[in-house]
Amino acid sequence: MQVNTLILGAGITGLSTAYHLETLGITDYLLLEKDAAPGGLCKSEHRQGFTFDHSGHLLHLHTPYALETFKTLLGSNLHCLTRRAVLYTQGVQMPFPFQAHLGYLPPEIRQECLDEARRAPALPPNPSFKDWCLSAFGKGVYKYFLRPYNTKLWGVDPADMTAEWCGEFIPRPNLEQMQASTHPQEKTGLGYNAHFYYPLKGGCQALTDALAAHVQNLRLNTPVTRLDLASRTAWAGNTPITFKHLVSTLPLPALLKLTGVEALHKLAKQLSCTGINVLNIAAKKPFNGFHWAYFPDRQEPFFRVGVQSSFSPYVAPEGTSSFYVELPSSFAQTPQGAQQVLSRLAQKGIIEEKDVLFYFWQTLPYAYVVYRPQRAQTVLQAQTLLKQYGILLAGRYGRWEYSFIERGFLQGKEAAAALQKEQE
Ligand SMILES: Cc1cc2nc3c(=O)[nH]c(=O)nc-3n(C[C@H](O)[C@H](O)[C@H](O)COP(=O)(O)OP(=O)(O)OC[C@H]3O[C@@H](n4cnc5c(N)ncnc54)[C@H](O)[C@@H]3O)c2cc1C
Repeated sequence: MQVNTLILGAGITGLSTAYHLETLGITDYLLLEKDAAPGGLCKSEHRQGFTFDHSGHLLHLHTPYALETFKTLLGSNLHCLTRRAVLYTQGVQMPFPFQAHLGYLPPEIRQECLDEARRAPALPPNPSFKDWCLSAFGKGVYKYFLRPYNTKLWGVDPADMTAEWCGEFIPRPNLEQMQASTHPQEKTGLGYNAHFYYPLKGGCQALTDALAAHVQNLRLNTPVTRLDLASRTAWAGNTPITFKHLVSTLPLPALLKLTGVEALHKLAKQLSCTGINVLNIAAKKPFNGFHWAYFPDRQEPFFRVGVQSSFSPYVAPEGTSSFYVELPSSFAQTPQGAQQVLSRLAQKGIIEEKDVLFYFWQTLPYAYVVYRPQRAQTVLQAQTLLKQYGILLAGRYGRWEYSFIERGFLQGKEAAAALQKEQE
């Protein structure tokens, strides 16, 4: 089999690449997906009248193009929400972000955070994530929130990560704003996710389905098992497919290993990520508190709990609620593990154990790319080498970065435009 463009992976980025090729009138492409359904992380599961994503998948749309396209794709099935996010720490529940709501903390911790913010050091060259946090907020905010929360999330100490990714994602009130937050008063509108969009019906999968409806040449249940760079051939099982161009949205280390090239295997070994385990819970009582909550403290096994049913009235039966609990991949997916989570949630007054209808686990082996110091150079080396063989990288895991749905969608658009240029 021969195609002009082979696209690997039908998550949001691969689907977007195919969608935009079709928009440009290019149909000589093939999109291969190993799973039985498209969507990658943007799939939803339907159980007993409940819809669950693969942990919460909200639409943070910051570009007019993505917003307009998603509105066209989803029509009246898209609605906009204003974030209600909180933190549970130091015995209090406070609004997110921590650094803008110091007035909710016990007085001695609030004072320590403020004193340290005033003494915050300058940002050194090539800062680690720890350096960035200390410089932005001082030692107190780092000690009480940023270090414990991020160590749980990434599985590594912030001192061992770079700060390349964080500027865009961590709300950064200045010293005056932090000082002004000494009384409990909620500040809204901070951060990239202060507002978000979500489909009314169908969960995040509704977006996947709407995109996939415009994609003709999608092959499901078709894992790519080998890639020969010199002959520009990919194997789907025993079927060789030759291509002129290839867009890969596969996790970069997995793609590099498919080539069988020793030097690329070595690069793959330098890239690391964390997986997460998600416990999804359906409950027979409504919950009208937060959309999601952060749990930095060590005694809580989870780092974030989201309320799926708060994103739309149509993803859970009336009078019920549904939750996703995000845990490190080392957390055991056992009945005892679930029991531990449920009793911590009950202790916080979030769900009572007797109200649980059912729960189930999900495993996300690729969740957060770890920004080790060698990541940027390794990705660049791989990208440069693969480009010589007509291979473009796109998506959160394709480019091995911290990213989100909108960016993957836009990278698919860029890839399609680059391919169109090649054909001119
Ligand atoms: C816990 C968590 C929460 C998140 N929450 C949000 C959120 O609220 N909002 C947001 O915007 N973003 C969120 N994200 C990020 C978002 O999920 C990703 O940016 C986006 O889904 C990535 O899409 P993708 O198509 O690039 O990759 P993927 O979704 O990973 O798709 C890659 C596809 O490749 C397929 N594949 C893999 N190997 C092969 C093979 N050998 N052959 C063929 N196919 C293969 C996979 O099956 C998959 O379908 C979250 C991510 C995580 C981990």
